[in-house]
Amino acid sequence: MLLFNGTRRSLAHLTKPSSSHLRGVSTKLFINGEFVTSQASEWMDVRDPATQKLVTRVPKTTASELEEAAKSAQSAFTTWRRTSVMTRQRVMLDLQQAIRDNTDRLIESIVAEQGKVVSDARGDIIRGLQVVESMAGIPELMLGSRLDVAADMDTYTVREPLGVVAGICPFNFPALIPLWMIPVALATGNTLLLKPSERDPGAAMILAELCADVGVPRGVLNVVHGAHETVDFLTSDQRVKAVSFVGSDRAGKYIYERSTQHGKRCQANLGAKNHAVILPDANREHALNAITGAAFGAAGQRCMALSVAVFVGAAGDWIPELVDRARKLKVDGGMEPGADLGPMISPEALQRAKTIVQAAAESGASVLLDGRNVKVAKYPNGNFLGPTVLDHVTVDMQCYQEEVFGPVLSCVRVATLDEALALVNANVYGNGASVFTRSGPCARKFQAEVGAGQVGINVPIPVPLPMFSFTGNKGSFLGDTNFYGRSGVNFYTQLKTVTSLWRHEDAIEDRQSAVHMP
Ligand code: NAD
Repeated sequence: MLLFNGTRRSLAHLTKPSSSHLRGVSTKLFINGEFVTSQASEWMDVRDPATQKLVTRVPKTTASELEEAAKSAQSAFTTWRRTSVMTRQRVMLDLQQAIRDNTDRLIESIVAEQGKVVSDARGDIIRGLQVVESMAGIPELMLGSRLDVAADMDTYTVREPLGVVAGICPFNFPALIPLWMIPVALATGNTLLLKPSERDPGAAMILAELCADVGVPRGVLNVVHGAHETVDFLTSDQRVKAVSFVGSDRAGKYIYERSTQHGKRCQANLGAKNHAVILPDANREHALNAITGAAFGAAGQRCMALSVAVFVGAAGDWIPELVDRARKLKVDGGMEPGADLGPMISPEALQRAKTIVQAAAESGASVLLDGRNVKVAKYPNGNFLGPTVLDHVTVDMQCYQEEVFGPVLSCVRVATLDEALALVNANVYGNGASVFTRSGPCARKFQAEVGAGQVGINVPIPVPLPMFSFTGNKGSFLGDTNFYGRSGVNFYTQLKTVTSLWRHEDAIEDRQSAVHMP
């Protein structure tokens, strides 16, 4: 059923792209509404992290294909920006339904390319879907303001899209992160050049197909693949007005600097080292369950993973119980029933995590649970690391200083809440921090004094729902306007302020002259 009369009609005059077969041996490009095979000479293999079997190959998009995509996005902008806001709202309503209808396809792609277990893959999609749903409220989010400033004079603001914008995504949330970008950029009237992670582009390709199916016109969303050269194009081409990036520190700092040097807006979400502080008055059962899930879920490959547990005073006695819980988690292929965590993304990532665990042991940490030799019978070639718990970790150790991005939990023991806060606040990252306590005053002190942008109180770091925004800070974020929610709308739009004078006397003169016109 149509929500607004004419919505379909207003889309109908725009050319609807065709959707076609998009996966298989090679991942296609999505340019100007068509899924096309790249003419690239260089391709990158995507292997199933549980088996090492080739899933697909991803092209390093050629310079002329990038040019085509940018040209298409630029041309589509002239029409898309003028579509009514209700039309863009309708697209979001239809897109959320299409994503719901295709959840199983998305899950299958995520598990095959990224390795996460089905429940984590579903979460990846659902949290992104919520952003699409929130963008169905775009008419209200785009509202400007108006004031009668003097007799016959009004000042009002209108919120306008920027133009062509670009999105560069990491591997760990193949659906969620593209969905931080696609709905907000498109609902605000921009056209988007999206670069999924070259390690798992499948979910983004399905999302492109769904966009086409619900009537997103040609050129409004383009998907290009690649690595360094594609990123260099997106961060320097003069048609691109803003760049959204989510990923590692190294790539993010480069992309932020390059984008801003070329006069673009940039928002860059970077790495993390999230601390959970456990006070001895906490609900033990609840805290340990929550920390186990947040440390090892998605094989620790979440920017919201709790990778450091700070036990205050007598709470340190609970560590053996935490180890028991972690030991019971089932490591298996993502599609296997009952699997709690799947493989890591690549053999290199696995090897790096193992090296960090070894270095921790050699620097004096106790390896209370060692996942390095985990065996998964059905998947002998998978990149599996079992849950690993390190105790007596100190701040000088590599396992504390670096983001491991694997199922490795570092336990630190301190005497007081003040000491715990000092530790968290000295860390370079500020993505999130949690506290577990039954004391309101302690929780309030933690929330007020902690130097992290997302705070959990008796919950692990929550990814904020889309009516809020994702607000990591310190070393976890570059830029000043966050992803999704009102901040996301602000990022992808600029204000125009109009002051108008319609003099009352002129109206009278006009009417008189109109009366005397022959
Ligand atoms: P990554 O930085 O390796 O890749 C992200 C994107 O940057 C990819 O599209 C990749 O092609 C590109 N890229 C990588 N190296 C590049 C280079 N040298 N030059 C130009 N482009 C480059 O990140 P990843 O390993 O895919 O993702 C994991 C990281 O992302 C972790 O650090 C994690 O904390 C972070 N992350 C952060 C958030 C957040 O919201 N803060 C969310 C998810 C992931």
